[in-house]
Amino acid sequence: MTLACREIDYAYRRGEPVLRGVSASFPAGSVTAIVGPNGAGKSTLLRLLAGVAAPEAGSITLAGRALASLTPRRRAARLALVAQRPTVAGAFTVEDVVRLGRYALPRDDGAVRAALDALDLTAMRHAAVPELSVGQRQRVAIARALAQLGGKAEGAGLLLDEPTAALDPLWALAVFELLRAQARAGACVVMVVHDLTAALNHADHAVILQGGRVAGAGPVEEALTPAALAPIFGVGFAAVGSGGVRALVPRRPAQA
Ligand code: ADP
Repeated sequence: MTLACREIDYAYRRGEPVLRGVSASFPAGSVTAIVGPNGAGKSTLLRLLAGVAAPEAGSITLAGRALASLTPRRRAARLALVAQRPTVAGAFTVEDVVRLGRYALPRDDGAVRAALDALDLTAMRHAAVPELSVGQRQRVAIARALAQLGGKAEGAGLLLDEPTAALDPLWALAVFELLRAQARAGACVVMVVHDLTAALNHADHAVILQGGRVAGAGPVEEALTPAALAPIFGVGFAAVGSGGVRALVPRRPAQA
């Protein structure tokens, strides 16, 4: 099941395009990182891919079918979005919020339990979400998305906006491993990430956005090179590697 967009345009305000002619494909069984400078349109693209908003021109397809032709319920069963700043109004507990992932779908207590477990939230399932740390809330949001997909990976799409931004290194790694496992089990995983080193180590493919256009795409080791990234981010990068991990370290071009 590939999620794909073709020639999509989008603007929040008339005459101010945020995405222009964006075409990209996000194959099942792999993790794709969307990277690019602030304001490039990454979050907007992710929201369109999730069906939260519709493009003004172009098409988005899921396994060859127009996303717009799916009912909201069918879409919810197949595509889950983890937004950048998950907010919850009211004193919902962790379990309530994870359960909310299923609100448009048949009840599935097993999926809720498994999702709580996967993010190590079972012990804190009665805690009030507004009282949690930002990182803990991020784990709740990911668990909610897993519950929404009902434990299915095959035929499912998991779309995440900066899923590890507030997580400590151990949890960031655990989430990347979880996403990798979802992809291995057949899911199409798409994540917006600022951390280029994380993209390089934890994604298979990258789509680089710049000013609302695709500025590069391909396997991470080909797309995320210092030479390709420097003009996009306006800063130099040193690529360093050790023990099977690679890092992209920003540095001033003068030092390059
Ligand atoms: P990125 O995720 O790459 O930082 P975004 O997709 O969040 O970029 O934003 C792309 C552009 O769209 C930015 O110029 C931003 O100001 C604008 N934008 C984002 N959200 C809204 C909104 N809700 N209303 C109006 N403009 C928005």
